[in-house]
Amino acid sequence: MPKVKVSQKTKLQLYQWEFKGEMISTDNEILYCRVCEKTVGCEKRFQVLQHLNTNIHKENIKIQSTKSAPVQKNSILSKNPGYEQICERCPGDIGRYNDIIQHETLRVAVCGMLENETSLTIPDALSEVMDKTFLEFYDYYDSSVRKKLHLHGQHMQDPFGEERGTFQYRNILTRLQALHAKLSAKCSNIGALGDKTTSDNECSSDDSDLDQPDEPPDSVNS
Ligand SMILES: [Zn+2]
Ligand SMILES: [Zn+2]
Repeated sequence: MPKVKVSQKTKLQLYQWEFKGEMISTDNEILYCRVCEKTVGCEKRFQVLQHLNTNIHKENIKIQSTKSAPVQKNSILSKNPGYEQICERCPGDIGRYNDIIQHETLRVAVCGMLENETSLTIPDALSEVMDKTFLEFYDYYDSSVRKKLHLHGQHMQDPFGEERGTFQYRNILTRLQALHAKLSAKCSNIGALGDKTTSDNECSSDDSDLDQPDEPPDSVNS
């Protein structure tokens, strides 16, 4: 079975998507922290987490969520449509809005896609990338949900007034745990059958050999 590689671009986009609430962006080449206004190492996932854990970043995020930070407005606006509208009404909206986005991302995009509740036909190669990505990000999903468990059952107050029901963090946690058990077992089976040149555990994607072009040697010349 060929090993599936996650391309650099895909990886950066996944980081951007995952760490949206932490103001992490990408131009598909580098990863950039918008509150700290600096690039963030992205070769390994821990480099991103390391940055998110720095005091300066935490401080900047705190400032960002309590003020409207006019200097940053343009770059934020281009990434988060609607942001300006809500933060002008009342400051608590930003955090609330991020909570809703994160909750819905985990519920629909993460759990829903991996459980394949819409019964899409997902190609094997993509499905394997999704599984690996899930396992790689599991700790982050898990800790994000645990941090918000106190909101479970509360009404999702959408700043745009849309009806969204209540936060279901406990259900999401259960679904994440079930997916983790299932995918860990599946991945270790695949690992046992496939090549074992590297000692990958939990099918973590191998960062050292991204973007293998896989072009046939006699590709067409212009
Ligand atoms: Zn930062
Ligand atoms: Zn408001």
